[in-house]
Amino acid sequence: MFHVKHLLYDQYISNKGDKMDINLFTTTLSDVLKKNGIRHPTGLEARKLYFLTEIMLKTNSTMNLTAIVEPIEILVKHYADCLTILNLIPEQAKLLDVGCGAGFPSLPLAIFRPDISITALDSTAKKIEYIKSTSKTLELDNITCISARAEDLAHKTEFREKYDIVTARAVANMQVLSELCIPFVKKGGKFIAMKGQKCHEEFEAAQKTIEVCGGNLSSLDLIKLTYQDIDETRAIIGIQKTATTPLKYPRQYAKIVKSPL
Ligand code: SAM
Repeated sequence: MFHVKHLLYDQYISNKGDKMDINLFTTTLSDVLKKNGIRHPTGLEARKLYFLTEIMLKTNSTMNLTAIVEPIEILVKHYADCLTILNLIPEQAKLLDVGCGAGFPSLPLAIFRPDISITALDSTAKKIEYIKSTSKTLELDNITCISARAEDLAHKTEFREKYDIVTARAVANMQVLSELCIPFVKKGGKFIAMKGQKCHEEFEAAQKTIEVCGGNLSSLDLIKLTYQDIDETRAIIGIQKTATTPLKYPRQYAKIVKSPL
């Protein structure tokens, strides 16, 4: 059972110093998820997201984790956004989140999908330390944290072509991302890129990279994120891995950026 008494109410909650009511948080979360076509959260899931919000906002005062600090915006633009891919992940999947930053989508997915095992990867050691300690506080035992550059880790046999699902949200353009992420995906697995609305051009530009790295477009879905006056469109690009990635990819980051495939 998840015990949270030590954190409840007596902790700082937002950048304005307001305290957020856990019951109000839970009902608002349920409403936000419902309006965005995501399943109803259990009490435990809602509590964990509540404390994640608390910890993230508190940490954000000393570390640059997120520019989104209003609780309602966090619910819609972080949590609902991350959870739009909930049903794209097969049961018991092994998932790698490349450039997880403050833990998006890895932390909400770990809370809502205890059946999957998640590796959260970021090149910034401080962010990985934050995710490690937050996962411990939230009693999430399905997250492993790694601080490394994706283009280096992808050449290690224990990580290369080992994941059913690889996610990346707000990390780089599709061309760069495809070379960084597709090498981690098992044949038959999927790379899920979480992008903004205007992704069509960069997706077109990435066609050759996707193909060279052994991928194939399987879906491009536009998702509406709405709640009260929030109305934003996001894109979810699904790339199926159909062939092994040639060993020379990914190249070093500067090369990927300077000479796209
Ligand atoms: N995915 C998170 C989100 O949606 O909020 C974080 C996005 S943040 C804008 C991009 C993150 O990607 C940063 O934390 C950065 O350190 C990480 N990153 C960028 N390039 C990387 C690479 N080559 N390998 C690992 N992490 C990388």
